Order: sequence, then C-alpha cells, then structure tokens
Amino acid sequence: MTKLIAGNWKMNGSLTANEALLRALASGLPQALPCDVAVCIPAPYFAQFQALAAATPALAAVALGAQDISSQPAGAFTGEVSATMLKDFACRYAIVGHSERRQYHGETDALVAAKAQQALAVGITPIVCVGETLAEREAGQTTEVVKRQLAAVIQANGHCISEIVLAYEPVWAIGTGKTASPEEAQTVHAVLRAQLAAATAHASRVKIIYGGSMNAANAASLLAQPDIDGGLIGGAALKAADFLSIISAAS
Ligand code: PEP
Repeated sequence: MTKLIAGNWKMNGSLTANEALLRALASGLPQALPCDVAVCIPAPYFAQFQALAAATPALAAVALGAQDISSQPAGAFTGEVSATMLKDFACRYAIVGHSERRQYHGETDALVAAKAQQALAVGITPIVCVGETLAEREAGQTTEVVKRQLAAVIQANGHCISEIVLAYEPVWAIGTGKTASPEEAQTVHAVLRAQLAAATAHASRVKIIYGGSMNAANAASLLAQPDIDGGLIGGAALKAADFLSIISAAS
C-alpha cells in the first residue's frame, strides 16, 4: 500500500517561517512522490498554504491537514473549527485524538470518535491517534488501552471505519527522542490491524501509521515493518531536510 508521511507542525510557525519551510520542501521533493505526503498545520495558515500550493507546482501533491476538528457541525461553540470550514480550504486530513489534546484538553474516547465522525461526514480523512502512556506500558496495559481507544471510533463510525487513517503514537515517545523499536511498534500495529479486521472487510487497506520521535535516522527501519504504513512526524516535520529524508525512506 502507498505509505503516508504526515507532518504535525503543532503550534509552531509564522507567515515567514512557513513560507521558508514550504519553499524548502518544494525544492527538495522529487517530481513523482514516493508516498502520500501531508502537512497538518495551524488553521490560521490554511489560506497561506493554499496560495503557496497554487503558485508552486511541487507543492500541489502535498495534502493539507488540520490538527483537530470540532465534534459539532456548526453553531455556538466558541473557538471551534468545523469540518465544513476545513473543507472550504480543501483540507484532506484532520488529526483527531492527538495525545496532547487528550492530555491537555481532556478529550475522551467518545469525543474523539465524534470528531472522526464529523470529518468523515464531509470527506476529510481523520488521522485517529491512539497510544499508551509510559505508566500504562509499564503496567502491561498497552494492548488494552489502544484497543479501547480504537473501539470507541469503530463503534461510532460503523462501516466507515475503513476510511480512517489510524496513528499509533505511544505517548512516551512523542517529542521525547525515545522511539518504539520497530518490533514494539509492529506488535501494536498488528493488534490494531486485527481489531480493524473484526470490524471491516477492508482492514488491509487502512493505513496504520506510527508516530513518536520518528526521524531521518530511524524512519526506514520503522517503515519496513509489515503493518507500518507511514509516519506522523512532529519535530522532524519542522526541518525540511529531515522531513524530506523521511519521505524518501517511505518509497
Ligand atoms: C506528534 O506530535 O504526533 C509526534 C509524533 O511528535 P514527535 O515526532 O516530535 O515525537
């Protein structure tokens, strides 16, 4: 399956910095991309991305992604950004349930499932993040935690579950420089694939990507695992050279 390399810029960037990063990406991208590529950027910069992509042929194949999405369609939800608003900017992906949102904004499994539902309803692919904390891993609860998180999304989305991208992101590996070993990650990805297979006949075409300190040096060995279909990249997505190396490792 074609792999997906998605950058998560988090709350980083400025008009000046984004332009420099996107131009550097554009100049390093091969003409035929070896994989699907997306950048999940802060929503205020969507128009900037659109304008640059329209004027820069090399960026045309880079998909735009959001880092979150409202669980509600419209109305009195101050500060929220709806699925249809994202769609107005040709947004192709939306991260939902990132561990930083679960941790700092109290997002529950049910809320994450509702966000995935909103995305799917307008044709945006939710990148659904699941992952255990260090304490949960040490307590031997990894499988139970990720299965519980995915079960909520399966329950709310029924047969549409085959349209999601699933991201396994062990919380202890995010932004820490600690990466799950390829074998550790593969073990969890296989569990998630089996859970999807019990819910849909199309589990084999659901991309299950890994996130957590993926970088230019470790990407190839992670991406070589049979159930690792790409990467969700935080820190390394802010450096064009590193992001480009990860993209080339995904061929
Ligand atoms: C992330 O934020 O999704 C992530 C994987 O971050 P990092 O690559 O910096 O660990």
